[in-house]
Amino acid sequence: MRKIAIYGKGGIGKSTITSSVAAAIANMGRRVMQIGCDPKSDSTINLLGSKTLTPVMEVLQKNGGLCKNLDEIAVRGYKGIVCVEAGGPTPGSGCAGRGIIKTFDTLDEFEAFKTYDPEFVFFDVLGDVVCGGFATPIREGYAEEVVIVTSGEKMALYAAANIKSALDNFRERNYAKLRGIILNRRNIPNEIEIVQEFAERIGTEIIGIVPRDSEIQRAEERNITVIEMDPELPISKTIIQLAARIMEQ
Ligand code: ADP
Ligand code: MG
Repeated sequence: MRKIAIYGKGGIGKSTITSSVAAAIANMGRRVMQIGCDPKSDSTINLLGSKTLTPVMEVLQKNGGLCKNLDEIAVRGYKGIVCVEAGGPTPGSGCAGRGIIKTFDTLDEFEAFKTYDPEFVFFDVLGDVVCGGFATPIREGYAEEVVIVTSGEKMALYAAANIKSALDNFRERNYAKLRGIILNRRNIPNEIEIVQEFAERIGTEIIGIVPRDSEIQRAEERNITVIEMDPELPISKTIIQLAARIMEQ
């Protein structure tokens, strides 16, 4: 089982890229699980079609902190991908990071990884603030590999640098390795050079470059990934190539 955490600034394209990579891997006949760790709870939306998935925090809040079984918190989406959303606290109260910790505890309690036996697990994690909760996937040994999604924009690189610092801080514990950077393009001047230089500075490499492509919005309007919409599109081919790169050991 390969456990890969995808981190990056809010709105940078983590969920879009994670779910389409997950779809590409599932298309190859592999078992995939995607766990959304963003209070926005929209990580797996484009894998679910018309199915509804209740975030773990919502299930727990409704049932006085109890979850009866995995069916309450996990739903199979596109090509059998097991989807989970951590969810978040009531706006204005509580801590979002705690939701992630609770979610991981619940998944452990019901032996989710043993039950579904996925070959690839993706954690889609908001990386604006890498507080204790948001660092859970890398701190508690859940994810062995980390991929950072960034553009060449300053704030995206700032978040990326913070994630790298968090990784360095947890080096002593179950060390998650920084696998590389995905450049999701915003088309700012010299973007590739800027991100290339950033990658070198933090001792890693760019493992994929995703262009801005309106086909992503077209797919999103139908609540599907570009992979499901049309695997022959140039953007889908880019994603399939990225998926193959991620699948390499
Ligand atoms: P995050 O999960 O990092 O918060 P999302 O994956 O939800 O970000 O992406 C935010 C928005 O940006 C989405 O609505 C998506 O349509 C758009 N988007 C992301 N990547 C691209 C891209 N390469 N080309 C066009 N639109 C994109
Ligand atoms: Mg997201």
